[in-house]
Amino acid sequence: MNRRNTIVAGNWKMNGTLAGLVGLSKGLESKLAGRSLSRARPVLFPPAPFLLAVAQRLPDCGVELGGQDCRAEMAGSFTGDISAPMLREIGCSFVIVGHSERRRFHAESNATVRAKAAAAMTHQLTPIICVGEDETGLTAGALDATLRRQVAESVPAPTGPFAIAYEPLWAIGAAASASTDHIGLAHTAIRAALVDELGAEIGDDVPILYGGSVNSANCADIFSVDNVGGVLVGRASMDADEFVALITAAENRRQRDHDGWRSSA
Ligand code: PEP
Repeated sequence: MNRRNTIVAGNWKMNGTLAGLVGLSKGLESKLAGRSLSRARPVLFPPAPFLLAVAQRLPDCGVELGGQDCRAEMAGSFTGDISAPMLREIGCSFVIVGHSERRRFHAESNATVRAKAAAAMTHQLTPIICVGEDETGLTAGALDATLRRQVAESVPAPTGPFAIAYEPLWAIGAAASASTDHIGLAHTAIRAALVDELGAEIGDDVPILYGGSVNSANCADIFSVDNVGGVLVGRASMDADEFVALITAAENRRQRDHDGWRSSA
C-alpha cells in the first residue's frame, strides 16, 4: 500500500434509497471532476444492492468501491451472504470486515473476522479490519492490552495489503470523536501490535484508520496525529460536501503528517 495515500473511507451502512444514493454519487462525481488526487484515496461502501448503480455514477473520479462485509467461504449455501470473489468481480477493491455492528448484531468473533480478512486478501480485496474497545475511560494499559489482543486474533497472515480501522465503540455515531490524545495512544498500541505480530517491514506499512464521529471540522486535527493513515466515516460520508471536505483535508495533509503514519518515518 502506498504510504503517501491517506484513505478516506465512507461507510453508507444500510442507509439510503437507490435514487438517493445515485443522486449522492452524481453530486460527488461533479464535485471531484477534474481534480487529480495524489494523496487522498477515497473509497465508498454502499449497500450491496446498490454497488453497481453507484459504480456507474462514479466513473474515473478516483473514488474506489468496497463491500461492507464478506463471508470467508468462496461460494455455497450461505443465504444472504456475499463472497469476496463476488465483490471483486463487480469492481470492488476493498471490503470492511469486523465492523463493530457486525461484531455486535451478528456475534462475529475475532476468529471469524480473521477468516474473512484472509478470504478478502486471497481474492485481491484490501480488507479494512475493524478493532476498538467497547468501554470509555480504560487506562492506557488496559487499552493497549485490549487492542493488542484484537489485532493478534483478528489479523491473518497477510497475503496482500490490508488496513486496520480503530473505532472505539463509544465514539461511533456520537456527538464527538475520541480526543487526539486518545487516538494517538490507541494507534501507537496498534502499530506496536502489528510490528510484534508481523515484523517491522510489514507492520510499519499498514495504514491505521481512525473511525468515530469524524467530520470536516475535526479531520485536520485527527490527520495531525502520528500513525493515522486515514479515516473511516459513517454520517459524514452521506453528505457530498462533507465527504469532499474530508478528501480535500487528506489531500492537503502536511508531508510530515503523511510520513507520520509510519512509526519509523
Ligand atoms: C462508523 O459507523 O464506522 C462510524 C465511524 O460512524 P460515524 O462516523 O457516524 O460515527
